Amino acid sequence: SEFHSLDAHGAEGESDDGTEVAQPVLAVVGRPNVGKSTLVNRILGRREAVVQDVPGVTRDRIAYDALWNGRRFTVVDTGGWEPGATGLQGSVAAQAELAMSTSDAVLLVVDASVGATATDEAVAKVLRRSKRPVLLAANKVDDERLLAETASLWSLGLGEPHPVSALHGRSSGDLLDEIVGSLPEAPRDADRLGGGPRRVALVGKPNVGKSSLLNKLTGEERAVVDSVAGTTVDPVDSLVELDGQAWRFVDTAGLRKRVQTASGTEYYASLRTRTAIDAAEVVIVLLDASEPISEQDLRVVTLVAEAGRALVLAFNKWDLVDEDRRYQLERELDRGLVRVPWAEKVNVSALTGRAVRKMAPALRTALSSWDQRVPTGQLNGWLSDLVAATPPPVRGGKQPKVLFATQAGIRPPTLVLFTTGFLEAGYRRFVERKFRERFGFQGTPVRINVRVRE
Ligand code: GDP
Ligand code: GDP
Repeated sequence: SEFHSLDAHGAEGESDDGTEVAQPVLAVVGRPNVGKSTLVNRILGRREAVVQDVPGVTRDRIAYDALWNGRRFTVVDTGGWEPGATGLQGSVAAQAELAMSTSDAVLLVVDASVGATATDEAVAKVLRRSKRPVLLAANKVDDERLLAETASLWSLGLGEPHPVSALHGRSSGDLLDEIVGSLPEAPRDADRLGGGPRRVALVGKPNVGKSSLLNKLTGEERAVVDSVAGTTVDPVDSLVELDGQAWRFVDTAGLRKRVQTASGTEYYASLRTRTAIDAAEVVIVLLDASEPISEQDLRVVTLVAEAGRALVLAFNKWDLVDEDRRYQLERELDRGLVRVPWAEKVNVSALTGRAVRKMAPALRTALSSWDQRVPTGQLNGWLSDLVAATPPPVRGGKQPKVLFATQAGIRPPTLVLFTTGFLEAGYRRFVERKFRERFGFQGTPVRINVRVRE
């Protein structure tokens, strides 16, 4: 059996473009001890502060999800970054540079009880070049007497200083209103395929057993439970009840009518397959376990992964599989499906009904992974440990830094890594492998995009 190993990463794995981040990012910058962490905790609405009063103590500050007035955004505390510049002024300015290029808005925090220092001015100078909104927080305004100091911060040239007391919460609501107002509108979490029964495509080469399996699933006696009008002419989808749940099998008309017979079937079938995959949320790729896995099978699997759909590999005709064939199949899988080790797998027989009831749980697992979202704080806690233990390889004499990450989307799960340099495909695959080890995502492709600071 001749086939190439499958690279389901495809084009999207290579993309380093500024893929739209679903949730806008606010970066918080400023000198040490002005109260950035305290303010971040205030923004996050957390009671227990992460702040410690011991100087130099490593603090847990990276990126977290925030919610205010129904708007979600990611807050990044740049205090955790080590920009590598020498001197306080240089390093805070470098942090501001990074913040500007990786976020949608920047919040500069200044200690109003001290007033604007030379470092604050240096940072403000950097931030005045920002094309994105910059807000100025005058922190430690614990009482009225400090309001006059706040006004003096107009001199930083960043517009109105917003007095706030991160410690006591004073005016933090007003500041949050300003922040949310400055952020770009986030696209709503895409439920782009709508509600109702989950959509399943059942695909595979001719004679693999698609119509037999569909009949088995729907019960041999009664025909299809129901049909759904897909076009004005033909009902093309079937509603099937499996395991107490309704599923919408897309484009089953062909399966039931057995139309794919004439010459030109291949072309017709592949177009049709592509359409079904696009219409589905989860795809069952039916393989004939009694025969070598073919190029055609692998192409379809690639199509599913590239389309970003959840995937169940169903090995049909298991009744024909003996010890020898089983051993061979395992070797074929190792070679051919190396890029989709995450696929859900079931061994079935449409003829005998073997394990057909395992189909619904497999579909559910794949879909719940497809829908899964890791909270930003959890994601970054894991990522900073990973990157500390295994930093990205040096390229052109430079070590790219991974600053933080967000899960920008679901369906399929999509991560965006914010970095100071290009990350090789090998390192992205390493991140994906570790990500799956930690968080699961069995049954779904995961996309990892890299946003390099411009
Ligand atoms: P960071 O280094 O900028 O993150 O600053 P921290 O959040 O660690 O705060 C430094 C110190 O300032 C801590 O002792 C905080 O308790 C204190 N602090 C933070 N915000 C306020 C505030 O609004 N008022 C007062 N009086 N102290 C504050
Ligand atoms: P389709 O072209 O993918 O819809 O495949 P069909 O459902 O028409 O099945 C093609 C042939 O394979 C038929 O003769 C089926 O009886 C046979 N077949 C389907 N499933 C199985 C199975 O699990 N085991 C065996 N031994 N034969 C099967």
